[in-house]
Amino acid sequence: MSASTPEHPETPLSVTLDLSRVSTDAASSLSASGTPVAKPMVNLSGLTRPQLVAALVESGVVEHGKAKMRATQIFRWMHHRGVTDFAHMSDVAKETRARLAETFTIARPEIVERQVSKDGTRKWLIRMAPGIEVESVYIPGVGRAGALCVSSQVGCTLNCSFCHTGTQPLVRNLTTAEIVAQVQVAKDDLAEWPSDKEDRVLSNIVFMGMGEPLYNLGQVADAIEIISDNEGIGISRRRITVSTSGVVPMLEKLGNTTQAMLAISLHATNDELRDVLVPLNKKYPIAELMAGIRAYPGLSNARRVTFEYVMLKGVNDSPEEARALVKLIKGIPAKINLIPFNPWPGSDYLCSDWSTIEAFAAILNKAGYSSPIRTPRGRDILAACGQLKSESEKVRASALRKLSLAAMAGVLSDDDEDEAA
Ligand code: SAH
Ligand code: SF4
Repeated sequence: MSASTPEHPETPLSVTLDLSRVSTDAASSLSASGTPVAKPMVNLSGLTRPQLVAALVESGVVEHGKAKMRATQIFRWMHHRGVTDFAHMSDVAKETRARLAETFTIARPEIVERQVSKDGTRKWLIRMAPGIEVESVYIPGVGRAGALCVSSQVGCTLNCSFCHTGTQPLVRNLTTAEIVAQVQVAKDDLAEWPSDKEDRVLSNIVFMGMGEPLYNLGQVADAIEIISDNEGIGISRRRITVSTSGVVPMLEKLGNTTQAMLAISLHATNDELRDVLVPLNKKYPIAELMAGIRAYPGLSNARRVTFEYVMLKGVNDSPEEARALVKLIKGIPAKINLIPFNPWPGSDYLCSDWSTIEAFAAILNKAGYSSPIRTPRGRDILAACGQLKSESEKVRASALRKLSLAAMAGVLSDDDEDEAA
């Protein structure tokens, strides 16, 4: 095992409900020594409905007998209507609203930057807390109507050699509230409140931003529960895709707790090469990964796994490798997503030539796999981002590259629409 190989996924990074607190709307209280300290408030947007019931009762704001009903009302205001102020919750008693506002927050994080591409792609840089900045990207025309790419961590502990996020240290896991906030911010900007099911433009969610979602599964699973809850945003779990580099021991839990669609960052067909591209492979080699995928709960022809395969010139793009890929995944209900490599400064890799990608795809198609290759979207705003110079802007630019728009577009190929209906 290399020094860079992470330890057990769930160890030091798992955070509890407490960390869904935000400090921006802090109320004052006194420390043991009598000095005023900031007491962070829980952001209710990061609580599932059962957690919301518990929080209302624990705080004493709502009496036990009414908590379930109140929780559903408040949940609907937050996630169906999109309100950011308790004062707007007109069917909640004025006095209760005031007590809620003293005890909790439902505020959005700060949007540091917003960009809209000519093709309709939108990108937001969101400051969750000081030093915790996250980008999310909305791409129209992907999935049923349009997809939002969200992050699960700031940075990543894994060091995939072609990925820029891998060169950044992990800052921390995002909390459930911070993951949900990415969806809320997009819906604010797309004017998608109330969250009606008809004609929505944000129809799909992909966890393909920064970070490894399975190293933050508790928060990711709660966020999926909130986003898919029919009293709120109501995006079907079948339209939520979680992409992982292959944290095998967590796959079963992912499937059982979220029923989300699975995407696997495969990128190589033999351990020798995958050890280099995705160093986590040293811990969970290809044979183990394939066994874990075959056992993924709910896998069927209607709910296929997506294999992501980044096209690296002269590294993994030969016809032999395409044939090896077909052999490797034989019998698994699957789609393959060929991702043109997004270069970044300092990277040794190049993107495969277009003709090579097409030849690779042709072999997969002949074997019966749909393997869409999509042109990257939002090029104009990406380009602007690439020209940024300051230190924090460099991080932003790399985060955006990492969002890998082409990757996300390919995961949600057109046939998902029929399946997810
Ligand atoms: N950590 C998770 C999810 C985020 S990465 C994972 O690795 O699956 C989302 C996708 O973008 C992954 O398939 C990843 O391999 C791919 N990716 C990362 N850097 C890329 C780059 N520079 N060019 C193209 N795809 C990249
Ligand atoms: Fe982390 Fe995914 Fe990048 Fe690998 S590809 S370093 S797992 S974000």
